[in-house]
This record gives sequence, structure tokens and C-alpha cells, in this order.
Amino acid sequence: MSVNGRIIEKTDDIMQKQFLYIEKIKEIIAEKTAIDKKQSTYDLRVYGCQMNEHDAEKLAGMLEEMGYVKAGEGEPADIVIFETCCVRENAEEKIYGHLGSLKPPTGKSKSIIAITGCMMQQPHVVEKIRKSYTHVDIVFGTHNLHTFPELLYKRLTTGKRVFDIWDAEGDTVEGLPAARADRVKAWVNIVLGCSNFCSYCIVPYVRGRERSRRKEDIISEVEKLAELGYKEITLLGQNVNSYGNDLGMKDGFASLLYALNDINGIERIRFMTSHPKDLSDSLITAMKELPLLCEHLHLPFQSGSTRILKEMNRKYTKEQYLGLIDKVRAAVPDIAFTTDIIVGFPGETEEDFMHTLDVVEKVRFDQAFTFLYSIRTGTRAATLENQVPEDVKKERFGRLLELQNAITNEINLKYEGKSVEVLVEGKSRQNSEMYTGRTRQHKLVNFSCDSDLTGQLVNVEIIKAWPFWLEGKVAK
Ligand code: SF4
Repeated sequence: MSVNGRIIEKTDDIMQKQFLYIEKIKEIIAEKTAIDKKQSTYDLRVYGCQMNEHDAEKLAGMLEEMGYVKAGEGEPADIVIFETCCVRENAEEKIYGHLGSLKPPTGKSKSIIAITGCMMQQPHVVEKIRKSYTHVDIVFGTHNLHTFPELLYKRLTTGKRVFDIWDAEGDTVEGLPAARADRVKAWVNIVLGCSNFCSYCIVPYVRGRERSRRKEDIISEVEKLAELGYKEITLLGQNVNSYGNDLGMKDGFASLLYALNDINGIERIRFMTSHPKDLSDSLITAMKELPLLCEHLHLPFQSGSTRILKEMNRKYTKEQYLGLIDKVRAAVPDIAFTTDIIVGFPGETEEDFMHTLDVVEKVRFDQAFTFLYSIRTGTRAATLENQVPEDVKKERFGRLLELQNAITNEINLKYEGKSVEVLVEGKSRQNSEMYTGRTRQHKLVNFSCDSDLTGQLVNVEIIKAWPFWLEGKVAK
């Protein structure tokens, strides 16, 4: 089904109750459209990770089913939804700022404002919204995203504020419509929540414990995506490597990959995020054997110091991490590694930090996502006393960035003059004369081409390497 030129995917059954609310809202919206002589619009503001991006696709799917259309860039919308993130403090502050700016002058009609996501699973945040942001109409959490139609219906029919936050995760809900932002690549959740409790991380508290979706539900979703013409899927989870453990499966993730590799129409499979402690031999074998699995592994190491890793509760040592990298490289020689690194975890000494630089030098990551440690209330690390001063963190951060940028640059330069396979995603955002896509190693490529080859795999000759992308032209 297609709405406003975007693909809407919808499965049946489980969402029946919510679909009834969608139908009721559809009637309200149709009436409003007839009176206002304009369609009702929505604006989704998404913060944080791919999980949130994908949750936002589900909210958009529900809204489009109700009859809302996406508001134009910068235009006021009838409903504004914030999909929030609480992994870093500055993201939270930004959201409060944006919420405040939507407060209308007294007496003016306003948009319906809804807020969901990880921030809403923290009681002190909900209390603050309740008391200080009285123009916010609907508040709901990560565990009951699927009840959004019911909550919106309540707001539309009573005019009252609606707060509904579930403390505990329920079963994984299947059947939410999703208005996917892309027509070539699609995200597919396979595990929700996380049970690892890394000491700096708030995710297990706000997204709940790890719950795997049933293998048959995932396969069925990917088959439907293939039918709709999607070429690439990215399997999502806080720790995809432990997929199926909670369902009693053995080698669950590898076995899922073998099953997905057989689906006709899908050209590429990616996954993120991997936890080193659960990166099994069976997964490495799958990466070697399965032709659809791309040669890219995002493997956060966070710190090179075994002492700090223990404090972080990461459950691997520096040597074990490097050993894994060697194993994967032996199995898949042209693999590209990317990673996440935290600088300035409490108690990090110069010596600890040198171990981090050492890992970066030894692995030679294609890209690293680097973060300054920031305190997250509610986590164990927030209670540690030996916090690293900001100026020390920033100085180390600068050195790390310099090293990683040099490595990325060297790796990218090696692509000049080579031909690479690119899955074409459409026109480039940076340069409308060019098309854009990614290599199997997840390198961004912008290239010139005479015709629109969106959705196709093409060979592109790389003519120039830029710090964060490659420039090319379609190979004759
Ligand atoms: S694995 Fe660790 S860092 Fe990742 S989501 Fe779970 S607790 Fe957070």
C-alpha cells in the first residue's frame, strides 16, 4: 500500500484494537479536512539512534493511516511528535528547548504536541513535563508505542492531557504499520531492549530487558520488504549478537542470518549493533559464508583499557577484543570495521587512554563514533567519584579524533582508481547533480550518472577520496 508516495507496510491481527482507533481518528480527520479545506499534517522530530528512527517510521505509518500527511519543511503542523533520546544529557536539554519554543501565546490555538521515547521512561522527566510544559498533550513511553492511536483518540475526543507510560516491557508487538523513510533500504528490529547493564548506559532502564522477536515474524517482514522492492535490510538491536538467547535458541543470530540470506529479492544484509562478548564463531562463519552479508562490522570497543572495560561492565579485555578483530579479518579479509569509543570514563588515566589509542592504531577502523563520557543519572557510573575533569577529557578527545581522522583518510585514499559496487539510494543531498549510495563496506559514495539507477547495484569508479565520502562516476 502506498500513501503520499511513501510505502506503507501493514500486517494484520495483533493490532486490531489500535486499528479500530485508527479508523475512528480517520473519520475525525476526514471531517476536519472537509471543514478546513486542507489536509491535517504531522511533524515528527527524532533524536538519537536508528531504533528511534525506526520507531518514528512506525508512528508515521500510524499517522498516515489516520489521514495525516507529512508537513512541509518549516511549516506548522497539526500534530508534532517528539521521539526522544536520553543517552546523552545534551540531547535532553535540546529537547526541552524545542518543546519550550512550541508554547503558544495565551489564547492562540495550537498544534497537538506528543512526546515519547527513552526520556519518557524516566519518572522525573515525566513529572517535569507534567508541571512545567503544560502545552504538551500526550506523553507515552517506549513500551507502549503501539497504543498511540488510542491515546491520540482520547486527546481528540476529550481535549484533556493524556499520560500513559508503562513501567515494564510487554510482549513484542507485531503488526504496526510503518511509513518507511526510504524505498531501497529498510530497518528491521530483531531484538528490543538490552540486559547488559554497561555501567555508563541508561538503555536497559528505559528500553527494558532484551526481548527477541520470533524468527518467523522477522522472516515474514523481510519477505514482505522484498516483495515491496527493498534491496537492503539492516537488522537492529542494542545487541543483535545475542538474538534468540531469551527464546532458548542456540546460535540464534547466525541461524536467522542463514534464513534471511535465502530470501529472493534482497541483495544486501547488514546488522547493528554487535557486542564483542557475544560475537560467536558461528556468526563469524556466517559472515564468511553468506553472500548477502556485507563486509562491514560495527563493533564498539568503548575503551582500550582492560581495567576501564571492567569498570564499564563490558565483559571482555583489550586482548580479547583485538583477538576477535583478527579472527573476523582472517575470515573476511576485506571487512571494514567501525566502532564507538568513550573518552574520559570515571577514573580513566593517561595510561588507560593510551590503550585506547593503541587499539585504534592496531585495528585501523574505517570510522569511529567518539563520545565524551557524560554522567547519566540512574546508571552505576554516575555514582563514581573519580570523574575526569572536562579539560582533560577534551584534550584526549582531540588526540583521538586526530588519529582516527588520519586513519580514515588513509583508508579512503586507497579507494582512488578502484571500482566498487554501490547500491544506489537516489539523488545526493549534498549535490543534486549526483547520485548517492553505499559500498558493501558502508562507504558513502556520491557519483555522476546519466540515468536514475535508484535501487540498482552499479559499479562506480572512485575518482577522489574526501574525508567522509568518496566521489566517483559509473564505470562503463
Ligand atoms: S550493550 Fe551496553 S551500551 Fe549497549 S545498550 Fe546495552 S547496556 Fe547500553
